[in-house]
Amino acid sequence: DEPLLSIRNLRTRFHTDDGVVEAVDGVSFDVARGETVCIVGESGSGKSVTSESITQLIPMPPGEIADGEVYFDGEDVTTLSDGELRALRGGRIGHVFQNPQGALNPVYTVGYQIREAITAHHDVSKADARQRAIDLLEDVGIPEAATRVDDYPHEFSGGMKQRVVIAIALACEPDLLIADEPTTALDVTIEAQILDLLDNLQDEYDVSIVFITHDLGVVAEIADRVVVMYAGKVMEVGTVEDVFETPAHPYTQALLECLPGRSTLEPIPGSLPSPIDPPDGCRFHDRCTYANGECSVGEQPPMYDRSPEHRVSCVHWEPGSDGLPEPGGDRD
Ligand code: SF4
Ligand code: MG
Repeated sequence: DEPLLSIRNLRTRFHTDDGVVEAVDGVSFDVARGETVCIVGESGSGKSVTSESITQLIPMPPGEIADGEVYFDGEDVTTLSDGELRALRGGRIGHVFQNPQGALNPVYTVGYQIREAITAHHDVSKADARQRAIDLLEDVGIPEAATRVDDYPHEFSGGMKQRVVIAIALACEPDLLIADEPTTALDVTIEAQILDLLDNLQDEYDVSIVFITHDLGVVAEIADRVVVMYAGKVMEVGTVEDVFETPAHPYTQALLECLPGRSTLEPIPGSLPSPIDPPDGCRFHDRCTYANGECSVGEQPPMYDRSPEHRVSCVHWEPGSDGLPEPGGDRD
């Protein structure tokens, strides 16, 4: 089956006073129909810019999609006109962001805002749109939806506001939902509820989800597949089982070790390299326990196949190599 979304060699950069920031530097991955793909990485890894590049939500200029293709249902959306992109956003592709406060307009009722989302893309009567708004609020778990539909955003808690934002994102029954850290601003109990909700809605609405997070704990909860990003590059792609049970990239392993209950809670020493003047070789080499002389020259290693679904950008996984050496062993 053709994937719903196929990102190929995407390069998104920003022109700044200090130079050109290569925020996303040759990223490729697919999203199948009905699956949840998590993009995980530290802040500054390029995960948000990757997701914002899909429907060109980045400000252009200073942003620029310098290269690559984004195929959505077989069509390269990087070639669409502004009008076609507007039809896509909120239509076949819904967005949910970190801060529900910023996504809702305080001067309109939530029902009005859901109706607007529907009528922007579909020719329906006001009464039908209102009923649909009530149904959506019910679907996202808002009690007494028939009366709450006439309430204003400030009358909802943070978690309930995010449910309203999800209702708006689903209003046109999108094929793809892009959620960028949608639970980061919420407390952990509410976060768990929202993750459950997204999981249930995925089946009900038959929607694919691209979920951006810095938190591997969240990834474990909801991902079918995982894209690990570092400094604008993809380090590892695999199923959630691949990434948690047989992580192959040193960066993924280091991230996993930071999870509660794992070997260490220490953050990975060092920091992300400069996005303006990235180092030669593997972007992770400054911080990598397994780095050898090969790692700091040339280009980022290619994505090597460990299996058809599991790919990793690290010299130790070149065909014919033995994989990662023992930690702290010979580093030649
Ligand atoms: Fe570490 Fe080298 Fe692999 Fe990069 S290529 S992750 S620096 S061992
Ligand atoms: Mg972000």
